[in-house]
Amino acid sequence: MDFEFDRSTLDFRAEVIEFFEARVTDKWTDGPRESPEYLELGRALDKELIDRGWYTMHWPREFGGHGDMMRYGTLRELEGYYRAPTYGGHGRFIVGPALLKFGTEEQRRTFLPPIAAGELTVCQGFSEAEAGSDLSAMRATAVPRGRDTYVVNGTKLYVTFGCYANAMLLAAKTDTSAPRHNGMSLFLIDMPLPGMEIRPLVCLTGHEVAEIHFDDVEVPADRLLGEPNRGFYHMTTALNYERAGVDRPARMMAALEDVVTEAKRRDRWGTTARTLAGELAAMLEAWRAIAWRVIRLQARGEVPSWEASLSQYYRKECNPLLGELVLEAFGIDAVLEGGGPLEFLVREAFNNHGQGGRLVTRNVIGRRGMKLPG
Ligand SMILES: Cc1cc2nc3c(=O)[nH]c(=O)nc-3n(C[C@H](O)[C@H](O)[C@H](O)COP(=O)(O)OP(=O)(O)OC[C@H]3O[C@@H](n4cnc5c(N)ncnc54)[C@H](O)[C@@H]3O)c2cc1C
Repeated sequence: MDFEFDRSTLDFRAEVIEFFEARVTDKWTDGPRESPEYLELGRALDKELIDRGWYTMHWPREFGGHGDMMRYGTLRELEGYYRAPTYGGHGRFIVGPALLKFGTEEQRRTFLPPIAAGELTVCQGFSEAEAGSDLSAMRATAVPRGRDTYVVNGTKLYVTFGCYANAMLLAAKTDTSAPRHNGMSLFLIDMPLPGMEIRPLVCLTGHEVAEIHFDDVEVPADRLLGEPNRGFYHMTTALNYERAGVDRPARMMAALEDVVTEAKRRDRWGTTARTLAGELAAMLEAWRAIAWRVIRLQARGEVPSWEASLSQYYRKECNPLLGELVLEAFGIDAVLEGGGPLEFLVREAFNNHGQGGRLVTRNVIGRRGMKLPG
């Protein structure tokens, strides 16, 4: 069996490496992504990717893409490895594919072109204070008023880019009497809208997210995405696109290389650090393989399910391991650097809740992948 990429994908890889090598700066590093400066870097790079036809290359040709998933995976992987600043990720990788899967023709024609042009930047408003891993516990409601409008009330929490985006993929209950997983719907709404209060919230990791309060916010009914009350199932599909993330193992491999180089430079390269680094490097290879398997599934038009959770599983196992390695190699000094990349990697070890916690991810693999009783 030949595990190598084909010639055309390898040629494209060489082209993308050349592209990034010419642009990478010392600002492309590990650290919180949400600041006006970082977003400017992201916007500038997005524009270059758009000009080259790479930004939404994974979309079908009729919407300006190439539909070539192997090239898409290659670009994503190298974006991760070079720690390229990104801004439009939610639109490119979650909302775009979700629109293609369950948007109406009119919604596709309306929203896909501005996402592909980097003009519509979307954030994701799913989580709430009591509804993170268990999104079915959400309390935000969207109640119809007449035929043309929904009225939204509630509070969304931890919204990445919530202070900067000009659109949101919002999840809210449209039928509060329905059983837990039914009765939720998705909306693609403009931001900000009258009645929306957006407050920045800085996490332990240094990431700046937003808490967004909705007070009788009016949303046009044609912004409903997919079937009413089927939002939970649409959300699961949308999140599965995000979980695939072939960029993440590459990004962590780059961080690992930095840590090893720095440990050697500071003469902190002891036996335990070496063992941990070896373990992590092996895990990253396995993670990379499963992330590419997810790409292959997408290339065949299939929606990744437990395979995407397996990719998440590796993320949630590798994250703390990298933090442990940094602490082992550099000691507590690493977290007292005043915001440097090593400090970030230790803090990032606690950023393991996204898209459901560690045990939740294992539950999904057990239920959907191994068919264990749920
Ligand atoms: C930096 C950051 C950015 C984020 N960005 C966004 C965003 O853009 N949009 C958005 O909607 N959300 C976002 N989130 C929210 C994220 O999706 C939630 O934090 C996540 O779903 C977990 O929810 P929670 O924090 O309420 O933790 P909980 O769900 O309360 O989980 C706490 C712990 O309990 C465990 N647990 C929970 N349920 C079970 C179970 N059934 N079985 C076993 N263990 C369980 C979990 O594994 C975890 O360890 C972000 C979070 C962070 C930290």
